[in-house]
Amino acid sequence: MTREQALGRLESMDREITMLEHIAAVLEWDSELYAPAKESDERGRQMEFLQREIHRRESSEVMGEVLSRLEGKEDDPFAAALVRVRSRSYRLGKALPEDLVGRLSRAKTTGYVVWLQARKDNDFASFVPALEELVSLTREQASLLSGGKTGRYDALLDMYEEGMTTREVDPLFDALRPILVSLVDERSAQKVDDAFLRQPYPIDLQDQFAQKVITDMGFDFSRGLKGIAAHPFTSALGEDDVRITTRYTDPSVMDSFFSSVHECGHAIYEQTASQGRLKGTSLAGGASYGMHESQSRLWENIIGRSLPFWMHYFPLFRDTFPEQVGGVTLAEFYHAVNKVERTPIRTNADEVSYPLHIMLRYRLEKQLIAGTLAVPDIPQAWNEASRDLLGLEITDDRLGCLQDVHWASGEIGYFPTYALGNLYGAQIWETLRKDLDTDHLLARGDLFPIVSWLKEKVYSQGLLYTPKELLRRVTGASLDAGAYVRYLTDKYHTSW
Ligand code: ZN
Repeated sequence: MTREQALGRLESMDREITMLEHIAAVLEWDSELYAPAKESDERGRQMEFLQREIHRRESSEVMGEVLSRLEGKEDDPFAAALVRVRSRSYRLGKALPEDLVGRLSRAKTTGYVVWLQARKDNDFASFVPALEELVSLTREQASLLSGGKTGRYDALLDMYEEGMTTREVDPLFDALRPILVSLVDERSAQKVDDAFLRQPYPIDLQDQFAQKVITDMGFDFSRGLKGIAAHPFTSALGEDDVRITTRYTDPSVMDSFFSSVHECGHAIYEQTASQGRLKGTSLAGGASYGMHESQSRLWENIIGRSLPFWMHYFPLFRDTFPEQVGGVTLAEFYHAVNKVERTPIRTNADEVSYPLHIMLRYRLEKQLIAGTLAVPDIPQAWNEASRDLLGLEITDDRLGCLQDVHWASGEIGYFPTYALGNLYGAQIWETLRKDLDTDHLLARGDLFPIVSWLKEKVYSQGLLYTPKELLRRVTGASLDAGAYVRYLTDKYHTSW
């Protein structure tokens, strides 16, 4: 097999794996939005079958042979990236015995079901055995992945954010924490009236308004669509099929709007990456979970909660909802959508306190994986950390350690990517602002130059580079909390 032939083989295997992933996403979309309750049994087996098939192909003997033929330097960035991404999944696949993969998969299914009931009953104790099993299997998985070379938690972190380590995350979070705590103190003391956001707003009009904004953001409706689901998410179901969901269940009208903007940020990244040579390959996606989240949060918070953005869109919002906000001024509206408030629920948190929620989970996760925190002691540890980081007393586990699905789904090591997304996003935005007068563009409602810049520098690059390399190529710098701190202090440290 020549090098050329090996590369051709690798690409065709990669394209088939990508197609299987798209098929799995079609099934998932159907389960989330349409499937009748009794379908869940066979659907679970269908999904497991596909996952096993993907795993088998990713770590097959022929994959190993092809990759070994391609070891060494590739000049072409596409070929180099394909070898990098496939070597990584090959290595991860090989490190884990099939038996462990099966046990983990079953523990996740059980964990999710038990957690749903435990949260409903506010009964953490009933969730303890399932979570203990998950933590124990995850520790076993982490040991195998790290091969004794790195810390166990680092091995988990690396699964979600390639190349990231606690050595890098710890000092970033340590530096951020006191700044965020003092901003939350300062801002939450101010009285901001946002009651007008929690009135009945007709859903068809909410939909119409969100549709206008995500169209302006460049969402391509000929290659995607928007649905309604219990949890907002984005999914690539095919090369030309990226779908987003929103929900209309929260008391605040802004929950559904910002969910749409957030998911649209993910979607335009996916739609742009799925073009040209990358289309149909595993490189047609976000560089990492953190990089993906950086773009959804950039659109939701940095752009979507900015004053210039609402200078353009608020008149339209007011025309759409004259009964609800006819008497509200732009300043009042801007303050309301940026209200800083101590809330126990992460997904409802404002952009200032949000990373503190992540630090809380990060602190506990590391202890769970290190073995210094036992599962039955989680509620107490959670409540202590909540007091320390958020200044909140938690008296109900539904508002504390039972609120998130991640641990119940076996996703330990995932949370930090949300906070890293904030940091990447602020660094990219600071760089973009050197090229474009964003205040002027946003106030005119001209999103096109901003979208184009992001498409060219970030979205079209897909997985060609690791998140670290991509950040360096776009901003010329490595990961740093400075831009994020400058962004937050500029916005929140001034008096309104
Ligand atoms: Zn997201």
